[in-house]
Amino acid sequence: MKIHEFQAKQIVAQYGVAVPKGRVAATAGEARAIAQELGGKVVVKAQIHAGGRGKGGGVKLANSPDEAAQVFSQIMGMQLVTHQTGPHGQKVKTVLIEEQMPIARELYLAVLIDSASGRPVMMASAAGGMEIEEVAAKTPEAIHRVTIDPVTGFQPHLARELCFALGLTGDLMKPATQLMSGLYDAFIAKDASLAEINPLVVTTDGRVLALDAKMNIDDNALFRHKELEALRDKDEEDPSEVAAAEKGISNFIKLDGNIGCLVNGAGLAMATMDSIKFAGGEPANFLDIATANDVNKVVDALKIIASDPNVKAILVNIFGGMARVDVIAQGIIEAQHQMPTAIPVVARLAGTNVEEGERLIRESGLPVIRAEELGDAAKKAVEAARAAA
Ligand code: ADP
Ligand code: MG
Repeated sequence: MKIHEFQAKQIVAQYGVAVPKGRVAATAGEARAIAQELGGKVVVKAQIHAGGRGKGGGVKLANSPDEAAQVFSQIMGMQLVTHQTGPHGQKVKTVLIEEQMPIARELYLAVLIDSASGRPVMMASAAGGMEIEEVAAKTPEAIHRVTIDPVTGFQPHLARELCFALGLTGDLMKPATQLMSGLYDAFIAKDASLAEINPLVVTTDGRVLALDAKMNIDDNALFRHKELEALRDKDEEDPSEVAAAEKGISNFIKLDGNIGCLVNGAGLAMATMDSIKFAGGEPANFLDIATANDVNKVVDALKIIASDPNVKAILVNIFGGMARVDVIAQGIIEAQHQMPTAIPVVARLAGTNVEEGERLIRESGLPVIRAEELGDAAKKAVEAARAAA
């Protein structure tokens, strides 16, 4: 789950990360009042779940309360396009007003999980404000990494190592160390998969602050963070993924092609994607129904897949283990009865109760396209999608 900058700042601030003073404004009048409180000079910042807002015109300085109100009106409601939003951009519905900081240096700091070591790593770079992907591509030696032992936590010597690498010496070391360990603590406490400060700034008067903050929370850990539930912003998420989550289907991933996929198991999902690509097609999504033995769930799943206007064919690839093929077959039949548009369905069914499943589909008389094995199923799905497109 992604959250907004202002929410991430509230969280990391609770763990000792210094952030600028600021508040969200709902109206131009409120923006003016907040700017007044903050001493007049502020930054007006669009809150969307995408980076690159500054370059896209979503982060602007205002040097008086009146200007803050004016800039607020420009940013609130705008369709903000950044390199992360796609060409249509994202509508700005929340705006943060924050005190302007006198910036001397912009740095980069993040905590994430390193899949190679299976441990958190803290990454830092003196090239802040820039996209870290760009730094990694052009000057990988500018990125410093320390691996953290989760048992002992973020040790002072790791902070010192990063401080030296970033040139944060003398009086800057203490506040920088506090910020680093605060960021690590927030990352662990909230089961984050990423906590990123870009830029981390040193001010002209010697303070070290997080000017931007980004946090992604591991969806699989959300059940133990009821306090984070309210931070979900469904307007920022893909509507079909939201619909899936509301039906209790957590394994639905939207992609860019035109073949919808109903599968069971992550490995089968990957193999199905590969087979579709190999057959010359592109998956529109995949939905992993896991071990659900519930006709209604199968119907919900197929409806969610079909609700994407890009979907021109659906490939059902089920290897029944705990999930029974006859239940899946009933779901396919029921969904065909309920669905307003007739999207061709290709079914490759195997495993538990497959004979009963086959019989149900045969006797339903519905035009379900049958396939014996995966390669054949993918080919038929690609053909059906082409014919329908
Ligand atoms: P994004 O990463 O989406 O572009 P940031 O929050 O990083 O958004 O803001 C972009 C740039 O705007 C920063 O790199 C910084 O130079 C400037 N900026 C952001 N917040 C402030 C602030 N409170 N005071 C001064 N400058 C700011
Ligand atoms: Mg930023």
